[in-house]
Amino acid sequence: MNMFSPKATMRVVHVTQAGGTLELSDRPIPGPGAGEVRIKVEACGICHSDSVTKEGYFPGLVYPLIPGHEVVGIIDALGPDVSGWSVGQRVGLGWFGGHCSCCDWCRRGDFTRCSNADITGVTRDGGYAEFLTASVEGLVTIPDALNAIEAAPLLCAGISTYNGLLRSGAGVGEIVVVQGIGGLGHLAIQFAARFGHKVIAIDKGAERRELALSLGASAYYDADRQDVVSELQAAGGAKAILAVHNHAPSIGPMLEALTLDGTLMVLGVPEASLEIVPRLLLSGRSVKGSSGGTSMEAEQMMCFCADHDVRPIVEVVGLGDVPHAYERMERGEARFRYVIDPSR
Ligand SMILES: [Zn+2]
Ligand SMILES: [Zn+2]
Repeated sequence: MNMFSPKATMRVVHVTQAGGTLELSDRPIPGPGAGEVRIKVEACGICHSDSVTKEGYFPGLVYPLIPGHEVVGIIDALGPDVSGWSVGQRVGLGWFGGHCSCCDWCRRGDFTRCSNADITGVTRDGGYAEFLTASVEGLVTIPDALNAIEAAPLLCAGISTYNGLLRSGAGVGEIVVVQGIGGLGHLAIQFAARFGHKVIAIDKGAERRELALSLGASAYYDADRQDVVSELQAAGGAKAILAVHNHAPSIGPMLEALTLDGTLMVLGVPEASLEIVPRLLLSGRSVKGSSGGTSMEAEQMMCFCADHDVRPIVEVVGLGDVPHAYERMERGEARFRYVIDPSR
């Protein structure tokens, strides 16, 4: 044990079985294995995808498990065979927690699609804790301009919307629609505006109009009161529509609001199926999905956020508040991301 971690145990929030509850517990502080570092956690975002661990949506999970894949902290110990990283360095860690180097995807050099990938907070313990160990493959450096609390959600919600937008093919000046102003949407609006797109934000009700405009949207459509598809058609159509919510029935109809070569980019995780009219695809419109990115892409995204003033809106909670915060997030009541500060 070194100077940064004099104690032998740490507080964590873990799940002891699939479909179980989030429980506060004490665990021995883990030591880093070969190719790993130990991180003293400064912040960890709470994300809808943590339900994969809590509910056991992923095959073969071994419980108890500590969720959390939006981790920022300080390296406090190095395992054997680690180079390029040092004790005291501030790092981030997202969903991608390491690759196997042997599967077909790895042999193509496409490591984030690794068939045997380690997933932070899913296949190995994550950041709802005072410490965690991590393979160096997933580590991300963080610019000084971002504090740990604001950097944490960028490691998942940030990189997902940033890459989703880049992969949508929308060009400068073209219309990008952000459908849903929540944990992903409030970041997507900021990225799209800073990328030079004409951003139209869509949600239900009037209360998010001011926020959407202040984040960089040039217009806000209230889906309760406006026929958003015809209004977008009248505006020339959207080159890209980012569906950043979990309400499947409102996604399919948006296909008709695209330009003939536009892309409907699904970034949320609705459980229901999408209804798509095949005729609308014949012109070259497409429906795609995207999630996460490489550690290098996350690093570039972090620098973009620092340079162009992109920040998540967060509420900070301690480890003891996690079960309550998680429930509020699942009910859609978070504004807009909960972030755990384990020192609280
Ligand atoms: Zn692999
Ligand atoms: Zn996430």
